[in-house]
Amino acid sequence: MTRPFLSRLLLIAMLALSPSVWAAWLSDEQPVMGTVVRIELWSDSGKSGQTAIAAVMEEMRRVDRLMSTYKEDSEISRVNREAARQPITISKELLELLERALRMSELTHGAFDITYASAGHLYDFPRKIKPSAEALAAALAAINYRHVALDRANSTVRFLRSGVRIDLGGIAKGHAVDRAIALLQARGIKHALVSAGGDSRVIGDRRGRPWTVGIRDPRQQDKVIAVVPLSNAAISTSGDYERYFEAEGVRYHHIIHPRSGQPASGVRSVTAVGADSTTIDALSTSIFVMGVKKGLALVESLPGVEAVVVDADGKIHYSSGWKRP
Ligand code: AMP
Ligand code: MG
Repeated sequence: MTRPFLSRLLLIAMLALSPSVWAAWLSDEQPVMGTVVRIELWSDSGKSGQTAIAAVMEEMRRVDRLMSTYKEDSEISRVNREAARQPITISKELLELLERALRMSELTHGAFDITYASAGHLYDFPRKIKPSAEALAAALAAINYRHVALDRANSTVRFLRSGVRIDLGGIAKGHAVDRAIALLQARGIKHALVSAGGDSRVIGDRRGRPWTVGIRDPRQQDKVIAVVPLSNAAISTSGDYERYFEAEGVRYHHIIHPRSGQPASGVRSVTAVGADSTTIDALSTSIFVMGVKKGLALVESLPGVEAVVVDADGKIHYSSGWKRP
């Protein structure tokens, strides 16, 4: 072989390879919203992919600053302090999420209820603290989503009685994931996964094969009960193992039945799959409260939604359209 031929061959090889020098899978993981946020995406140019990841992480932190009840200066904390006395002006973003939360309460006949927090705030899971029977009884009357009055025209929220508190822990992560996905789509990203704890959503597929998300065994941390293939979809798992403590043989966990103010029983975990994370996040929490029968009946009535429920005996129940491998 002659030298010019060799160098021409080299040049052609370099040209063929050059786009793929920049095209690559990028990923990052950071602690945000009291959980781990993970982003994975296919980037055609290394730099824009990195910028997109940084923008998404910042967006997740922004939503957390707005909606975390753990932060004194968040919008939601201000609402909890003042809305029983007077209407409080809130951002359009918070107003719209509150509207969605209230719609979810109607849909689930009150199983999803952000005023669960009126009693929910009396639990401290890391410190193994639960309310006394008296404190719980006093807080119960304040749990009812109908106590939350929204005024869309003036963008205000008001609580119709004292003692009401709200918490968006059952829907805010889904909202943050949806915001992240919208941001990536606007940047032209065609293949991505964003997950925040139990809530994930994917854009496209993993270039030729689906994304996969595992559903963990609720009683064995390193075992999975199913691996779910996904493309252009959202998935959310709610479990009694995420935040809990045990006392007198009872598992006190973070999903609260609005009627009793106590942890919902009958279910260990729920995984729901659908189109967007906000809906699916709230639905997985709702189905957990509703239990196997009512929860799966609700899923059957919703187009494009499927679910898997692990009951209190460890038995697995699937909605009719769940595709088992
Ligand atoms: P998830 O992990 O999405 O199921 O959300 C659980 C979180 O939802 C809890 O940590 C609470 O912040 C919140 N939550 C608990 N019970 C309810 C309920 N009945 N309705 C709405 N949100 C709830
Ligand atoms: Mg949820």
